[in-house]
Parts: sequence; C-alpha cells; structure tokens
Amino acid sequence: MTELGPSLIEAKGITKEFRKGESVVHALRGIDMRLAESEFLAVMGPSGSGKSTLLHILGCLERPTSGDYMLGGLNVLEASDEELSHIRASRIGFVFQTFNLVPHLDVYENVELPFLYSSFDDQEIKQRVLEAIKRVGLNERLKHRPAELSGGEMQRTAIARAIAIKPAIILADEPTGNLDSNTGLEILTLFQKLHEDGATIAMITHDRTVASFAQKTTLFKDGKCVDTI
Ligand code: ADP
Ligand code: MG
Repeated sequence: MTELGPSLIEAKGITKEFRKGESVVHALRGIDMRLAESEFLAVMGPSGSGKSTLLHILGCLERPTSGDYMLGGLNVLEASDEELSHIRASRIGFVFQTFNLVPHLDVYENVELPFLYSSFDDQEIKQRVLEAIKRVGLNERLKHRPAELSGGEMQRTAIARAIAIKPAIILADEPTGNLDSNTGLEILTLFQKLHEDGATIAMITHDRTVASFAQKTTLFKDGKCVDTI
C-alpha cells in the first residue's frame, strides 16, 4: 500500500433529498468519504444509486441537504454562492459522459473557456491552454470544431479543458460511457497517466472494468457507500 498524502476531500454524513410535492427522493443517505491528494478513486454502483449526485456535491455544483464537506481545508457548506463558483472555476476540473463542448468553438477555444473570467494574463493563458492540449495529444487539432473530431478526441478536448486550470481535483462522470471500448481504454490510460503525474481524480462508473483503472473503488447502493475495495 502506498502512503497516502494529506486529505483533499473529507465528507461526513452527506445526505441529499430531492423533494417534489409530497414525494421525497433520498438520493444520498449519509456518505462518508476521504480522498487524499494524488489519489485516483472510482465510485461504482448501479444506475440511480446516487453517484452523480455525490459528484455534483463534491464539485460544488449542488449543496447537500445535511453533512460536512471540507475541500482542501475549506468548509464548503459555509461558503457563499460566489465563493462556490470561484472554487468550481479555479479548483475543479469536470469531465462528463457527453463531453459538454461548445459546438461553434474549436479545440483551442473550448480549452480556453475556463479562463474567460480569470486574472491570468494572455501569455499565461495561452501557455496553459497549449500545454493542456499537448498533454492529451491534440496539438494537431487546434482548429477543429467538435463536429470534426472523433468521440475520443472530443473527450480529450474536455480533459484538456479540465486540466488547463490545474485543478485540485478532476471529477469525471462516466467519462467513457459514450465511447467504444478501445477509445474508452485510451481515455482511461490518459487518466492513469495524469494520475501518475500527480493528479487527484474521482471517477464515476457503473462498469467494473473501468473502475479497475483506479487505485481504490467505493461501491454505492441506494445512496449509501456499501464497501471500499
Ligand atoms: P446515478 O448517477 O448513480 O445514476 P443519480 O445521482 O443521478 O444516480 O440519482 C440518484 C437518485 O436521485 C435517483 O433516484 C434520481 O432519480 C434522483 N435525482 C437525481 N437528481 C435529481 C433531481 N435534480 N431532482 C429529483 N430527483 C433527482
Ligand atoms: Mg449518474
């Protein structure tokens, strides 16, 4: 067992309820989770078990109904909405199943997007964008729009956009879900490479093979963490 670094994420007793009229969905029923810096975690479980809900909370897109959440020593639940959006923009790199690229922007412009409201100067932004694109192997595709890319290249673009800000953590929700198995393998190999270079990653999947690329897997069932392997 390799020694774990300092805690990046510490979540305790996280619950999330969605209310609609009289009915309540208990999406998360008390999640405890710790993620160290430079760890690569998979969260695995069947559809509807609460995986995406957890990722949204970890990524500060949503607030839990109850519980405690510390991210890099900061109490997320006490943060204002403005502070949360700053945390999202500067510390979280999101990767989604559907890539979420802007269709009329090319690869370079998509990766540049997170810097729209940043305080970096133009030279620094350009350097970060090009470095991120190079790391995912898309230097030859700078001027291509999403429609002119393969699925794997679209996901690589999304990963470049996520890592360009040098986030504290990459949160990936079924990142290979829309890709054929060979392309999925390429993306997982890329995540492993980023992890070897020090990235902290939490990746959601319902697929055991995909989860096997992570160091550690947390199993979800009915909004609860039932095992960690
Ligand atoms: P998973 O990602 O594991 O498939 P989700 O986290 O998406 O699961 O969903 C967990 C449960 O919460 C499901 O029953 C889902 O229908 C419900 N849910 C998720 N988001 C919402 C929402 N915005 N409003 C109402 N119910 C939701
Ligand atoms: Mg989901």
